[in-house]
Amino acid sequence: MASRKSPDGRKPLGRAVAAAKPAPKRARVVISVKPAGKHATRVAAGKPVTGARAVIVEKRGTQARPTPPKKASATRGAKTKPGVAAEPLAPRAVFRKLSAYHADAHCELDHRSPFELIVATVVSAQSTDVAVNQVTPELFRRWPTPAVLASADPGDVERVILRTGFFRQKTKSIQELARKLVAEHGGEVPRTLAELVKLPGVGRKTANVVLGVAFGTPEGVVVDTHVQRLSQRLGWTRHQEPLEIEQDLMREFPRDDWDAIGHVLIFHGRRICTARKPACASCPVAAHCPSAFRAENVGRKPTRSRPS
Ligand code: SF4
Repeated sequence: MASRKSPDGRKPLGRAVAAAKPAPKRARVVISVKPAGKHATRVAAGKPVTGARAVIVEKRGTQARPTPPKKASATRGAKTKPGVAAEPLAPRAVFRKLSAYHADAHCELDHRSPFELIVATVVSAQSTDVAVNQVTPELFRRWPTPAVLASADPGDVERVILRTGFFRQKTKSIQELARKLVAEHGGEVPRTLAELVKLPGVGRKTANVVLGVAFGTPEGVVVDTHVQRLSQRLGWTRHQEPLEIEQDLMREFPRDDWDAIGHVLIFHGRRICTARKPACASCPVAAHCPSAFRAENVGRKPTRSRPS
């Protein structure tokens, strides 16, 4: 077969050129470095080639492949088995460290009395403390006592607490709560868990907030979403339900700590150990946490699916 020539007539065209494929880039790959000399050895593609001075090998069409950097481990910093802390420490000691770190931990709902606190806590359901603190000054300016709140126009109350969500149900709850305080407690907030949980809109969590913050006499531990998640991540409970988690915490910690546990864990959960991306690298108890650097799915609430 007659050889074909290039357009300038100088070189015969090879198959690759004839197929109009672009020539692959040359890559210079340093395979090995040895003392250059008569008997130096170079190695190309794993095969030794003797008698060459050069230690640089050119491979047509082969890109130099740098060694890929090691991927960051999902368990960076965790040198232990899942569920085991690097430096195990008793829950009380871990809590002391967290308490020192969040020395300013406190209830973040603005209030001036037990009445304002219990109303603000009911309004805070499914909302944020920031949103609640934006509406309660107006709420308590217009209706400062249980008696006046009980007789307020529901539409007016709804408009004031609108931005906290579920405003109709919350209005109903705080007005019924106010009426019951007037009718059965002389307009005062009761001081026992048993009486508090009988009030409209008041569950065990709200009752514990009021007893711990307003009266300094907690009868349990506040278990909200942060306390629930962190208790699980720190290995302080294996339970999922708030009531069972609360029982575990009450068994583990002395009564003097019950009020502070809620504030400290809520502070930590909002600032460091968030649900989606816990900042374990910044956490003061990472060495003592069995979930450190692998906590994303620990203590998370399951994704809710919309009913079809
Ligand atoms: S931030 Fe990380 S190390 Fe700290 S408590 Fe949460 S999961 Fe544990």
